[in-house]
Amino acid sequence: MNAPFLHIDRPASSGIAHPRTGTATVALIVPVHNEESAIAPFLAAVREHTDPLKQAGVAFDFIFVNDGSSDATLDRLIEAQQADPRIRVIDLSRNFGKEAALTAGLDCCDADAAIPMDADLQDPPHVIPLLVEKWREGFEVVLAKRTSRANDSFLKQRSASMFYRVHNWIAQQKIPQDVGDFRLIDRQVIEALRSLPERRRFMKGLFAWVGFRSATVEYSRDQRSAGQSKFSGWRLWNFALEGITSFSSAPLEVWTYVGATISAFAFLYGLLIIAKTLVFGIDVPGYASLLVSVLFLGGIQLLGIGIIGQYLGRVYAEIKQRPIYIVRRKYDGTP
Ligand code: UDP
Ligand code: MG
Repeated sequence: MNAPFLHIDRPASSGIAHPRTGTATVALIVPVHNEESAIAPFLAAVREHTDPLKQAGVAFDFIFVNDGSSDATLDRLIEAQQADPRIRVIDLSRNFGKEAALTAGLDCCDADAAIPMDADLQDPPHVIPLLVEKWREGFEVVLAKRTSRANDSFLKQRSASMFYRVHNWIAQQKIPQDVGDFRLIDRQVIEALRSLPERRRFMKGLFAWVGFRSATVEYSRDQRSAGQSKFSGWRLWNFALEGITSFSSAPLEVWTYVGATISAFAFLYGLLIIAKTLVFGIDVPGYASLLVSVLFLGGIQLLGIGIIGQYLGRVYAEIKQRPIYIVRRKYDGTP
């Protein structure tokens, strides 16, 4: 029972304060990978928008998950932690990817609510008070939806919209369009996420899967404050595959129907050839049609096998039951 993903009992600090009354704690969960130049501006901007909420009875924690950075990110985080005890740093043993880093942050969060945020200020801190306000109205999930993708390249805009369309067409749990990980989730939602045992974690899908009552606030997404995006085209493609395979088995099942349709055509075509041979005798030419059908069927079969491979690879990863992440050390002011 030592795997980090297992259900953890409700921590003592939660449940004391109802979000609508009294003092509540909200944790910002920030996965960071090579963000040395983004940490200071991020903290400054976030403090500016969260400190005033103290009067309204909302206290903030900052949980940074260092996802195997190779630059001075960890040093910057440790310095920040020493200056501000509200900061906690979880240092993972290597780069596990943003989804795993976010899971690590949620696993150690004991606040009444959590807000996953990117470190590059693309998730603007001025939205935080709006999220908290809706939460205090009683919504368990408050989504931050971006109104424009003008800062994304044309290719990224098209591929994102195609992804949402395909995903929501074939997956049972629809994911809201243009909503990233930036959202507020109540303690109950955190607990629900912790109870999901899967290793390959497509967080946007898991957030949708657990449900709860949600409200939406809108914002416009700016350019990165510093550094570079960690998501190349290839990584985004794999991310999209992860989403679709995690929440739909339609690509796997569709081959039954593709196969049945091709077989039906093949049968009818076979009858036609038999009839033709009986009436007109043996007809030797046919090289082109033979080659085309062999290549076509070969291609279709390889595609089907490839898709089975995509799922099988994921089944294999799940079945090995490796932990989602490994923590090297936590810096939280305790020795
Ligand atoms: N990130 C991470 N691990 C990774 C890649 C990214 O923790 O392997 C973090 C990154 O430091 C940032 C957030 O995830 O805080 C979003 O990454 P990025 O801004 O590169 O994504 P984009 O905004 O381009 O989609
Ligand atoms: Mg970004």
